[in-house]
Amino acid sequence: MEKKLRIGWFSFTCCEDSTMVWIELMNENFFKWKDLLDIRYARVLKKNNKLDNIDVAFVEGAITNDEDAKKLRSIRKHSKKIVAIGSCAVNGMPAGQRNMFDDELKKEIEFLLVRFKQADKVRMVKDVVPIDDEVAGCPMQEEAFLGIMDKYLKEFGVINA
Ligand code: SF4
Repeated sequence: MEKKLRIGWFSFTCCEDSTMVWIELMNENFFKWKDLLDIRYARVLKKNNKLDNIDVAFVEGAITNDEDAKKLRSIRKHSKKIVAIGSCAVNGMPAGQRNMFDDELKKEIEFLLVRFKQADKVRMVKDVVPIDDEVAGCPMQEEAFLGIMDKYLKEFGVINA
């Protein structure tokens, strides 16, 4: 059987616009990628998802609570590479605006953090786990994403280098 790149797409706290960009890129590149990608995990595309033996995990969004940090560590454990996708994952903003609130505003939102079990600080992906690459932009820059996809298709021997 031909080797495929086993990928996962994961979204944490964010508006998920990079997911929309990814879906559009999947449409545009369908005939190029359909025999090259094995989509193991992408809740936006399918119901049955497996977090195991993933070559490249694409992670969008900021990490705002301990439960998500735990999930992210599990993604790291089951993935050979992790790519932070979009500004919220890469540098924590704009999803992490509350980190910059003054004391008064922080006091005002305190009850929400408790109600929704949120951590005191919003973290970017690399605050929680080591990452291998990142695609900046809000939403992510398409050309940069295509470059990363091409790089890993070659690195994992799916297409010729
Ligand atoms: S980086 Fe921008 S587009 Fe992506 S999730 Fe954050 S706010 Fe949305």
